[in-house]
Amino acid sequence: MFAEIKGLNEECGVFAVWGHKDAAQITYYGLHSLQHRGQEGAGIVVSDGDTLNVHKGLGLVNEVFDQQTLHSLHGSAAIGHVRYATAGGGGFANVQPLMFRSQVGGLAIAHNGNIVNANNLKLQLENQGSIFQSTSDTEVLAHLIKRSGYWSLEDQFRHALAMLKGAYAFAVMNEHQLIVAMDPNGLRPLAIGRIGEAYVVASETCAFDIIGATYERDVLPGEMVIIDDNGLRSEQYDKSPNPAICSMEYVYFARPDSNVETINVHTARKQLGKQLGIEAPIEADVVTGVPDSSISAAIGYAEQTGIPYELGLIKNRYVGRTFIQPSQELREQGVKMKLSAVRGVVEGKRVVMIDDSIVRGTTSRRIVNMLKEAGALEVHVRISSPPIKHPCFYGIDTSTTSELIASQHSLDEMRDMMGADSLAFLSTDGLMKGIGRNPEMSNCGQCLACFTGEYPTEIYADTVHPHAKV
Ligand code: SF4
Repeated sequence: MFAEIKGLNEECGVFAVWGHKDAAQITYYGLHSLQHRGQEGAGIVVSDGDTLNVHKGLGLVNEVFDQQTLHSLHGSAAIGHVRYATAGGGGFANVQPLMFRSQVGGLAIAHNGNIVNANNLKLQLENQGSIFQSTSDTEVLAHLIKRSGYWSLEDQFRHALAMLKGAYAFAVMNEHQLIVAMDPNGLRPLAIGRIGEAYVVASETCAFDIIGATYERDVLPGEMVIIDDNGLRSEQYDKSPNPAICSMEYVYFARPDSNVETINVHTARKQLGKQLGIEAPIEADVVTGVPDSSISAAIGYAEQTGIPYELGLIKNRYVGRTFIQPSQELREQGVKMKLSAVRGVVEGKRVVMIDDSIVRGTTSRRIVNMLKEAGALEVHVRISSPPIKHPCFYGIDTSTTSELIASQHSLDEMRDMMGADSLAFLSTDGLMKGIGRNPEMSNCGQCLACFTGEYPTEIYADTVHPHAKV
């Protein structure tokens, strides 16, 4: 579905490269392929070995950068970031990488995730004299690094990481080193690749494909990887990691051509659709998926049930980005602009409409309506993930509990609100089975918190959801 309409938004994408003469260009292409993870701001910091230089701005990657800007960013190392503003809100000050200058040099930070004890730490730091220039949770890391009392970036970073709770895939860089780190739960994906002799790091492996890099491995939960001119070394800074990668990366966020911890996202989605076909079959004439992210699951459902898959809904390309439209009402109009039902496919048919998830339910209602207006006799809604009943505190904007339709209404109520003839969700067991991660691990090494309310980290009293109405 369309992130900006659905109310389910990824916060960020991170990219980094070390040891390549075209570091800025490579990062630009990398960020381009991570654009789906954030469309509100983009930035690149390069190191030429002596200084760090930054260019960033609000908007899409190709709006922020042109050839001239990229050519002015000299250096063989870079970190880049695309942002969807959740924690801390939008605005230029929060566009990453964040960049800091001191007497001993520069420091750049790119972050994907959300630090759940950021407000606590900010208060402590402010009481000790820190002044923050942004409202982003990420800036806390810079202060912790600078106040650590250590000299090397490695020691400073390790010290700072020990104080953070929550979700973080970080890339930090000074003139001499690039360090990436993953939180002890490994909540957000981060992979390492090679392009020639150079190292690259990206939130998703699709960024490697576009630049011709080869995938090497994923950054592990609780791991810190140090890359400099001596090569790559790794250390497990957290000795008791508890893997819990975000399930929604597989269900919805990541691109289908990415592999998240070696599992292909399209394949996982297709399996989720098959699992849904086993758990919630129905008599119908056609299966259709809500483009783009639900197509794989729809193919799987069709394969499992033997009902033909058809293109019952199409996405209208080249309509403006709807995220700039502020109100829910306008966003809903955006749905109409962006999706069309194919009358020739659905007219007079019993349709199974596969969607990957439901947040507020307003989008589903509109799509059901659209299918019925186009002549569908029945519309059976099947969701290839469990009901989202709890907010996410780990960098995904899932709205507040009161806005989550599944936390407020029963299955029958939701079905009636959508105007669907039937409604079914995938079970949490089906979700784990479909994705196919290691069953030996607790919850197969997945975070299921937005479905179950069992959060893999402590949630602090000050962990206010960015959109919470407090
Ligand atoms: S709560 Fe949900 S969206 Fe957030 S990290 Fe966990 S699985 Fe992902």
